[in-house]
Amino acid sequence: MSGFAAELASTDRAALLEAIASASAADAERAIAGADGDATLAAAAILPLVSPAGAALLEPMARRARGITLRRFGRTVSLYAPLYVSNHCANACVYCGFNAGNDVVRRALTPDEVLAEAQLLRDRHISQLLLVTGESPRHADAAALCRMARALKPLFPSLAVEVYPMETDEYRALAGAGVDGLAVYQETYDRGTYAAVHPSGPKRDFDRRLAAPERGGRAGFRQLGIGALLGLDDWRLEAYWLARHAQYLMKRCWTSRVSVSFPRLRPAAGGFQPPRPVSDRELAQMICALRLVLPDAGLVLSTRESPQFRDNMVGIGVTRISAGSRTAPGGYCDGQGGAGGQFAVCDERPVSEVAAAIRARGYDPVWKDWDAGFETGTA
Ligand code: SF4
Repeated sequence: MSGFAAELASTDRAALLEAIASASAADAERAIAGADGDATLAAAAILPLVSPAGAALLEPMARRARGITLRRFGRTVSLYAPLYVSNHCANACVYCGFNAGNDVVRRALTPDEVLAEAQLLRDRHISQLLLVTGESPRHADAAALCRMARALKPLFPSLAVEVYPMETDEYRALAGAGVDGLAVYQETYDRGTYAAVHPSGPKRDFDRRLAAPERGGRAGFRQLGIGALLGLDDWRLEAYWLARHAQYLMKRCWTSRVSVSFPRLRPAAGGFQPPRPVSDRELAQMICALRLVLPDAGLVLSTRESPQFRDNMVGIGVTRISAGSRTAPGGYCDGQGGAGGQFAVCDERPVSEVAAAIRARGYDPVWKDWDAGFETGTA
C-alpha cells in the first residue's frame, strides 16, 4: 500500500474516536490559541476542535477562523458555477440522483449545447466554470472533455473538472487543453461505509479514487479539490481525514493549491436518507476547525446549502461558493430548477443576488482570480 492510502491504513478508527470523545475544553482552547495562521498545525490538532468539547467553543473558534481567512484571503469570495455535461453513469451510489438504477432522464450534451450553456453562464459574469459528468466515458471521455475545454477556454479564465477518476496521462491531456482545476471527492474516508454506499460500478475502487487528486497534481493541475459527502459517516472523522489528505497533497503537490469542499447530502432521486446527518452548527464547527488547521486552503460551499447559512459563512472560513447552479445537463438553457438534477439545490438565488449578498457583508465577489498568462508572463 502506498501514497495516502498508507497513511489512512496507519491510523486506527477506534483510537481517533476515543481521542475525539476524550478531548477537553482546555485541549480545544489550546488548539484555538495555537492556530495563528502562520504555524502549520498537525492534522491531529483538529481532533479537539471537532470534539463535543470543542462545540461549546464555536464562537471563539469562528472569530479565530475569521481572522485567519481575512489575513490569508482578504475580503474576497470567489464565485463559480457547475456545468453538467452528462448524467449517464455506470455507478450505483445510493445517495445520488444519477445512480445507474434510478429512472431519470439521461442526457449527454452536444458540443453546441455545452457552448450554449456556457455562454449563458458567461452572460451572468461567471468566469470560473466546473465541468461535471457522471462516470460514463462513452458519453464524456478525456478526449471529448479536452475538445470541450479548448472550445470553452476563451470564455473562462478558469476551467475545472469534476469527473470520474482518470489516469495521469488523461489528466495531463486535460491540463494541456486548458483545464486548471480538478475536484475528486472521496465521499467518505471510511472503507466500510464507502463499500456500503457504492454497491456496484467502477467507483467501488476506493484506492483508485483516493489517489486521483495526487495523480492530478502530478499532471499539473493548479487547483486540487477534495471533499467528503457529509451525512455518510461521522463528520468529525471525515474532518480529520480531510485535514490529513489536504496536508498530504500540499506536501506532495506543492505547486497546486488545495481546496476542501463540504457537500452535505441533499434530497435526490431514490430518496436516500443520510445515516449520519450533520446539523448547521456542526457544519459550521467543521468549517472553522478546518480553517484553523489549513490556513491556506480554499474552503468551498455549494448551493446545496441555504442562502442564510452560506451568507453567514462568508468571511468565517469559506472562500469560494457556487452561484445560480443547475444540476442537470442542459439545466441553464432549459431554465430547469432542481427537478431531474443530481440533487436538490437549496440556494436558488440568481448569480447577481448571491454577489449582492457578498457585497452586503463587506466582501468583494471575485469573478476571476486566475489567468493562464500568469504562468507564461503574458497576463
Ligand atoms: S455520485 Fe457521481 S458516480 Fe455516483 S451515481 Fe452520481 S454521478 Fe454517478
